[in-house]
Amino acid sequence: MTQRAFTRLKTTCRWAAVACLVALALIFVYVGQLLGRSLPTLIVTSLSSVWLLSLAGLAAFYGRLSRRVRRGTSLALACTLVLLALGWSNLYRIETYLNYRDWLAYESKHFVFHCAPGSSLRDDMESYASVRDTAFEQVCGALKVDFPGKIDFYVYDFLGMGWAVPEERQVFADKGQTIGHEMTHVISYYIARRPQKIVLLNEGLATYFNQKPVDHHQVAWEHMQKNTLPPLTALADRKAFRRSNPYYQAASFVGYLIETRGMDQFLRLWQETTCYVESLAILEDFNVSGHLDLEDSGDHLVASVQRVYGESLPELDSEWRAWLQGRYAAP
Ligand SMILES: [Zn+2]
Repeated sequence: MTQRAFTRLKTTCRWAAVACLVALALIFVYVGQLLGRSLPTLIVTSLSSVWLLSLAGLAAFYGRLSRRVRRGTSLALACTLVLLALGWSNLYRIETYLNYRDWLAYESKHFVFHCAPGSSLRDDMESYASVRDTAFEQVCGALKVDFPGKIDFYVYDFLGMGWAVPEERQVFADKGQTIGHEMTHVISYYIARRPQKIVLLNEGLATYFNQKPVDHHQVAWEHMQKNTLPPLTALADRKAFRRSNPYYQAASFVGYLIETRGMDQFLRLWQETTCYVESLAILEDFNVSGHLDLEDSGDHLVASVQRVYGESLPELDSEWRAWLQGRYAAP
């Protein structure tokens, strides 16, 4: 083979390799779409796979490639890695933008409300926003939070549930959902700028500030009368809490701490308990904590309560029940 023919063959092989990688990426996207994955996720996933294959190819043929090709490929892989890192870290934002780009955006003092096309709420956004702005200021004031920016609030006519993404300052909710619950999840994230993984405190605080005209303490007391108010050591268990969702009982306990011991001590408890990190919560959810003898969320709450209030959780439990009894029992 002549030198010229050999060079032509090398160039053809290079282009064939690039074409194979592009074809592979397109196959990933096609199969992913068949499986119902979103387009941005598929693009970033398939480009990441192609990047890994290219890296493996470079490592395998490194010695046989010319210096120029090695340098060019390494530079291209390094630049692509930066782009992929940016893509992965912004994937959630890109998907949120694409999913809601047709929704009406209405900006109030503390929120950007996003309303579904055709929603019955579109003509009444001003009063809907106004009560939420007032609640936002009350919750921020009570929790001593200097909130950075506005909350993106996605309002559905019917979603069937609500949730918050505190790190992204987002709320997704039915238009009829309580005014304060989900926004309190977002605001309270900024007490320590860490997520709260002790569900008893997280849901208790959001329910305590939900602005619903319900006396949470009375609901807890009524459960106590029927012997259906579990001990705090049981409510502190993440999984047990999730099974029965005793939101009002948790709100009563949180309210008891705030109303009898003060907000400053409660905020200290919150700061301490947010040190229980997300990775430990995941291990707990998968039943790994017990096998590895790791601290679970219940142990963490017990230790934090002891440090902040100088009492054990069962002692606080007895005092909370006596306080409920004194408040509601007939004299
Ligand atoms: Zn909640």
